[in-house]
Amino acid sequence: MARDIGIDLGTSNTLIYVKGKGIILREPSVVALNTKTNEILAVGTEAKKMIGRTPANIVAVRPLQNGVIANFDVTQQMLKHFIKAVLVKPFLTGPNILISVSSGITEVEAMAVKEAAVAAGANKRPQIISAPIAAALGADVDIAGSTGSMVVDLGGGTTEIAVLSMNGIVTSKSIRIAGDELDASIIAYMKKEYNLLIGERSAEDIKISIGTAFTKAQEEYMEVKGRDLVAGLPKNVKLSSSEVLEAIKEPINAIIEAIKDTMENTPPELAADIMDRGIVLTGGGALLSGLGKIIKARTGIPVIIAENPLDCVVLGIGKCLEQPELQHLME
Ligand code: ADP
Ligand code: MG
Repeated sequence: MARDIGIDLGTSNTLIYVKGKGIILREPSVVALNTKTNEILAVGTEAKKMIGRTPANIVAVRPLQNGVIANFDVTQQMLKHFIKAVLVKPFLTGPNILISVSSGITEVEAMAVKEAAVAAGANKRPQIISAPIAAALGADVDIAGSTGSMVVDLGGGTTEIAVLSMNGIVTSKSIRIAGDELDASIIAYMKKEYNLLIGERSAEDIKISIGTAFTKAQEEYMEVKGRDLVAGLPKNVKLSSSEVLEAIKEPINAIIEAIKDTMENTPPELAADIMDRGIVLTGGGALLSGLGKIIKARTGIPVIIAENPLDCVVLGIGKCLEQPELQHLME
């Protein structure tokens, strides 16, 4: 029997679904490498722990950037490692792989994803599925009928906005402003306001712990540790959630503008459907506090946060593997 596995190869996280079993792997898309020998030292969670903490001869890299493969060799090795981890028994032939790709991807970039899957051990013909379609399926949005839906997937490197109807994408927009950009804005804010240098991991921690896109009813605080840029020594700063709100205002505005742009390019009948059904948010960024509120306030459209937003894409891929009637959604 063939083994079918589905992969959400995200900029931040890779998730794998095994047919008949469900989601069995969730790991950061990070690889730690020895720069002298090119030897892989760690993959996934272990490698992510090393970001910002490695000596000169070791780097923790994210081989995908903005939804596309930035480093082919490392992506392929990372995939190989993950596939090996989910397939307990050794098999003679590679598994059948269904892998999601960003909607804004070029033909060449999609080809690279397929090639990486083959190089990582997939059988000769890996299949692909457009990420917004997978996200919609995973969020239980009915896209088969002629009623329009909007899904906004906020990942690490890209925000993908898509209007779907009759199992297809009517209009879509992909912008390179998402979770990573929020982290970068927090780093810039700490530098500017406090002369404090913090790393990517700390910025992400701040965003997840006290970050918000909408004024919180109750102010929250966090002790932030970094290095004083003037004295060069460690320094602590007590940061509030409203400061984080201020820090991430620009990228949040850019995301809202992109949603508005997409609405403007949507046929009126479908726009009316979206007004009724609401915008569905998926991806890790959907977990940002206040994001639904600010989008609703600025667009006037209701917003629904998908259940388990981090899992939506891989769950949608899983549905395609399990349900024969959805197989036409694969390419
Ligand atoms: P990708 O598909 O690009 O791999 P994911 O959907 O896995 O991305 O989402 C990862 C992004 O979600 C990261 O930028 C991460 O910081 C962000 N994220 C995860 N949890 C939260 C949270 N609770 N609040 C805000 N952002 C979050
Ligand atoms: Mg994703």
